[in-house]
Amino acid sequence: MNHVVDTLIIGAGPAGLSCGIRLCKRGVSNLVVEKRSFPRDKTCGGGVTNKTYRLLSEELELPEEALSKIFCDENDVLELFFGDLRLTHSKIKKPLRFVKRREFDHFLATEYQKRGGKLLENTTCSSLDPKGHTATLSSGDTVAFEHLVISDGALSPTAKSLGYDSPELAFCVETHIPKEALPNHTAVGVSFGVVKNGYVWVFPSGKELCVGLGGLYDQSVRYDAILKDFLRTLGVDPEPYPIKGAFLPYGKLVKQSRGMDNVLLVGDAGGFVDPIYGEGLYFALASGIEAAKAISAGHTSARKAFLARMKPYQKIIRDGKRLQKIFVLPASQKYFKKVAQGRNNFVGFYIDHLLAEYDYPYSRLGKLIRDYRREKKTAKA
Ligand SMILES: Cc1cc2nc3c(=O)[nH]c(=O)nc-3n(C[C@H](O)[C@H](O)[C@H](O)COP(=O)(O)OP(=O)(O)OC[C@H]3O[C@@H](n4cnc5c(N)ncnc54)[C@H](O)[C@@H]3O)c2cc1C
Repeated sequence: MNHVVDTLIIGAGPAGLSCGIRLCKRGVSNLVVEKRSFPRDKTCGGGVTNKTYRLLSEELELPEEALSKIFCDENDVLELFFGDLRLTHSKIKKPLRFVKRREFDHFLATEYQKRGGKLLENTTCSSLDPKGHTATLSSGDTVAFEHLVISDGALSPTAKSLGYDSPELAFCVETHIPKEALPNHTAVGVSFGVVKNGYVWVFPSGKELCVGLGGLYDQSVRYDAILKDFLRTLGVDPEPYPIKGAFLPYGKLVKQSRGMDNVLLVGDAGGFVDPIYGEGLYFALASGIEAAKAISAGHTSARKAFLARMKPYQKIIRDGKRLQKIFVLPASQKYFKKVAQGRNNFVGFYIDHLLAEYDYPYSRLGKLIRDYRREKKTAKA
């Protein structure tokens, strides 16, 4: 065997690398194989919420100074739209940060290697036998491992080859335009009512704006054409700006309960994405970290230990999926447009407590509304 490790990790996105960083910290030997080489692009809005930031700084213990350099933008104003009608303009207490994935993932890969992690780029597995604990890599090298972490993204060829179901998918397209093209667009923008079963985002991204949209995947929808039309309604000629598309999971988790005890699916490969916003970085990091904790605790079934640790996250995703099903109905959208208009403070409260932190899971939206009213009353008194 060319490599003998406790854990083989397939895919060096945030999920695989966070798992690797945590395993290195615990002194558990591991190897990450990645089919591309860094720095590499990844289609993503790059939005980082406060809860995601905390995972980077507290759980992965990445140095604050290095972290502060990795964000290309930050913003504390969010505007909601329905089509081109502006519904709200909300100041948020916990600003949203933004990264460029080319730099962010490269940074994580470097931090992983600094901690002694071994990363093989331009490499895939040509054969994999989790029961026999062996793999052969595209380079011809062989690996003996105890645990296998699958973190090769939404389409996860590795999970598919081992017989796992695919997660339910959304499809997103995005492009980058210079900020000067939309000088009045200074807030984080989110528009509903433009694309079926999804939304449009306009995220600040350094000198650019990342404009994208996506929704539950429907083959008949021309996502790129809708994005171009959207840009035209903003007065921007879309033609000079290349559009890229990618899948992401959107609600249905991959069933791992009957999987092998030494195989763990993390990040997009496991379907761990918020089904309302498509926020995946938080779940990628969280599931990578929880996988490392489960593996390093030395349980007979790392998978069972991992799934037990993932229960609160799975609850958020399942409750979010229920809400998504209601939210996409035309009647709900009409109602949302009516009730959201002008509710600037409530939307700010919602962003600070739900999106930024998950202080309230989706099943407790009623409590969030009651607490907001109480806070408003106290502030008035
Ligand atoms: C358009 C778009 C916008 C998004 N915007 C946001 C956002 O603003 N905020 C947010 O939080 N989330 C966002 N997401 C979701 C987020 O990008 C993902 O949830 C996140 O990247 C998941 O991380 P991961 O490590 O699981 O997978 P990935 O980031 O996809 O990484 C998988 C890695 O595996 C590698 N790989 C693939 N196949 C193999 C193989 N066979 N062998 C070895 N390596 C392999 C890939 O090259 C890649 O490096 C967005 C997604 C899309 C598509």
